Amino acid sequence: MNRKYDVIILGAGAAGLMCAIEAGKRGRRVLVLERADRIGKKILISGGGRCNFTNLYASPENFFSANRHFAKSALARYTAADFVRLVEKHRIPYHEKKLGQLFCDRAASDITSMLEKECREAGVEIHLNARVSDVRKNEAQNEMQKDDQFTVQTEDARFGANRLVVATGGLSIAKIGATSFGYDLARQFGLKIEPPRAALVPLVLSEPDRKRWCDLAGVSTEVIASVRGSKQKFRENMLFTHRGISGPAILQISSYWDGKESIHLDLAPDRDLTAELRTRGQRDQSSGKLLLLLRDVLPRRLADRWLETYPLSGNSDRTCADAERQLHAWEVQPEGTEGYGKAEVTAGGVDTGELSAKTMEARNVPGLFFIGEVVDVTGQLGGFNFQWAWASGFCAGQAM
Ligand SMILES: Cc1cc2nc3c(=O)[nH]c(=O)nc-3n(C[C@H](O)[C@H](O)[C@H](O)COP(=O)(O)OP(=O)(O)OC[C@H]3O[C@@H](n4cnc5c(N)ncnc54)[C@H](O)[C@@H]3O)c2cc1C
Repeated sequence: MNRKYDVIILGAGAAGLMCAIEAGKRGRRVLVLERADRIGKKILISGGGRCNFTNLYASPENFFSANRHFAKSALARYTAADFVRLVEKHRIPYHEKKLGQLFCDRAASDITSMLEKECREAGVEIHLNARVSDVRKNEAQNEMQKDDQFTVQTEDARFGANRLVVATGGLSIAKIGATSFGYDLARQFGLKIEPPRAALVPLVLSEPDRKRWCDLAGVSTEVIASVRGSKQKFRENMLFTHRGISGPAILQISSYWDGKESIHLDLAPDRDLTAELRTRGQRDQSSGKLLLLLRDVLPRRLADRWLETYPLSGNSDRTCADAERQLHAWEVQPEGTEGYGKAEVTAGGVDTGELSAKTMEARNVPGLFFIGEVVDVTGQLGGFNFQWAWASGFCAGQAM
């Protein structure tokens, strides 16, 4: 026999729990079905274990989607300040690391404990280890049946509800429970999907470049990263890895990389080495002099490798200017990304044209909602993806 609820939410991650809290506060009988053995596993590993739970400066410009206007309404209705108020209500100590990024002082478990407590107080029921095998929408034959539009079958029970919220996240990090379930369900109900792809992800260099650069794994330097076809530029650190490049600048630009273009890196932001050599009175701009200056700009090992790889072809002013130009415009052609196993998020997802921007309800399937990362809205690095999860979860919860 069906156990009946007003709302069933699939997925106890950031978006699902926020939605559950809001719906519960509105007096709805809420059931959350979570596949994993605990709630919020991604929250627990986020931000290096300290959860970068929001960003003080979150604005629609920090998000991308096939429809860049879609997220505006939700982000305006539930802001970073709203989430900070919740964190402060629970007396969770936090700090701003940089650029408006707020992290827990202690551990990310402060955030999951807070959400769990809020769920308890709102009377939300959470079932862990729930394996959903089937989801159906029943065509109501009469008024009575309108209360039981959706049937969700798990291995050992069947549940019915008038509203079904899909908050099962994206494909990133399968080992902690990421599945394609949300996309499959969207397709089952005839909703379009923007092709998912790994974003905020380290890049893998081509074989020759790996040989040339990857023994520098662990070396990091400030760069400005950009890519043709996008106005976005990120001035942050880049890190060499065993297979390629990573660090905040690369993670950020990976989200805007089409898999074909080269990545453009300025390795000496704001520096004018030719002028600096000149003012130092070193007219003989031999590679030795440039090396000394480069070691001032880049980590020593990278500076040495740079000049080994791109030796000066003479010692004229022109040669030096050419060398400098190359330093400001290093074109790197990655072979690919490290994929979903290392991606912080999945870009793409349920086509926003299928959803109401105000409630996240599917336009053509009344009662069915999609929230969080499964939707084609993706944030930049810095707490924005959680802010989208909170905001979209809140808006759906308000509509219950
Ligand atoms: C390593 C890492 C670090 C990150 N750090 C940050 C950060 O510091 N700041 C930030 O803003 N973002 C960060 N992110 C991104 C952020 O974690 C996600 O964008 C966010 O968790 C998305 O929330 P969600 O609720 O949509 O999905 P999720 O948090 O992924 O939750 C989805 C839930 O659904 C469950 N589920 C999946 N399939 C099923 C199913 N079939 N039935 C039932 N349940 C199911 C999953 O087990 C999971 O609990 C990080 C991501 C990673 C991988």
